[in-house]
Amino acid sequence: MTKRVVLIGHPVAHSLSGAMQQAAFDALGIDATYEQWDRTTLQLADAVAEVRDDAFLGANITIPHKERVVPLIDRSTEDALATGAVNTLTREGRRLIGHNTDVPGFAAALDKLVGRQKMPRQAVVLGAGGGARAVVFGLIRQGFQRVIVFNRHLHRAEGLVKFFGRSAAHMELKAMPWHESIIESELTKTRVLVNATSIGLAGDQSPLPAGVIPGDLLVLDLIYNRTRFLRDAEAAGSSVLDGETMLLHQGAAAFSLWTGQPAPLDVMAAALADARAHGLRSAEGEPAGDEPAAEAAVAADAGVEPAAQPRADEAEPAPADEEAAATTAG
Ligand code: NDP
Repeated sequence: MTKRVVLIGHPVAHSLSGAMQQAAFDALGIDATYEQWDRTTLQLADAVAEVRDDAFLGANITIPHKERVVPLIDRSTEDALATGAVNTLTREGRRLIGHNTDVPGFAAALDKLVGRQKMPRQAVVLGAGGGARAVVFGLIRQGFQRVIVFNRHLHRAEGLVKFFGRSAAHMELKAMPWHESIIESELTKTRVLVNATSIGLAGDQSPLPAGVIPGDLLVLDLIYNRTRFLRDAEAAGSSVLDGETMLLHQGAAAFSLWTGQPAPLDVMAAALADARAHGLRSAEGEPAGDEPAAEAAVAADAGVEPAAQPRADEAEPAPADEEAAATTAG
């Protein structure tokens, strides 16, 4: 019987994961299909319950459900517990196990970025959503000693720092307000800079003005494109890496969890490149459909100039109602 794997999110229409995972199943002769289920929050519990059936190898969970899915499953593994987010489900009989493969995905990206150099100990992280949680956890686990998190809405960065309080007790993990002068000053004291905001996902925008990024940093953007942020950092002389390595390795880790087999990385990388060449752009971590960035992505796909996102320092205050706040949480 053909086995099923589903990506549950909202929206999921153009996900790159489908191309990558289906190519891997086909290359290894695994009789399985990767489907995309667009499910709202109200539909999430039913969708997750369906995955308990024997027909399923498991699932991917994406925005905006990565945290909401936690109470609907039976057990979370260490990475999922540590980050409070689940992006992959596997089955043990009718029990569902939650994993977070963004964590090994980030570890692979950090390794590639650092290369043969000594692993640095200081990092600045821009953003405090679900992606940033995997990043900060990865940095803590790598032995970083000083990690500063900047976010448009400071309370969210403070929440992230509080969440990691115990595992970061031995080091300096701080949330700081998003002011260019403070970021600029922190960048002179760091070696690694990570963009974990979605600025640059839809339009040609950068979270930082070009002149602020020093020329001797290791710079990672979680976005899987050559963003303006990366172009500016490279022009300044820094070493840069985009989010494709993280995307590929989170997918590879999920594939191995479902199938018990090593992932065919070359096949998956080629499928990703091919899907991107054909205009697909979204993947795990894509903001929900009612987010401005996603709307802009849709507009860009249709050949319409996306509306400019607000600058970080002009942003509206955080949404007050719980549902809206949960929608932006990763
Ligand atoms: P979330 O929606 O959870 O978080 C979005 C983050 O971006 C928040 O920190 C938010 O700040 C910030 N942000 C959005 N718009 C603005 C703006 N106009 N000005 C300032 N800050 C802004 O998303 P994720 O954390 O899941 O994803 C973030 C990015 O990382 C996405 O681009 C996603 O594609 C990418 N990603 C890539 C992965 C990969 O495998 N390569 C894996 C996971 C994510 P605030 O809290 O103030 O709203």
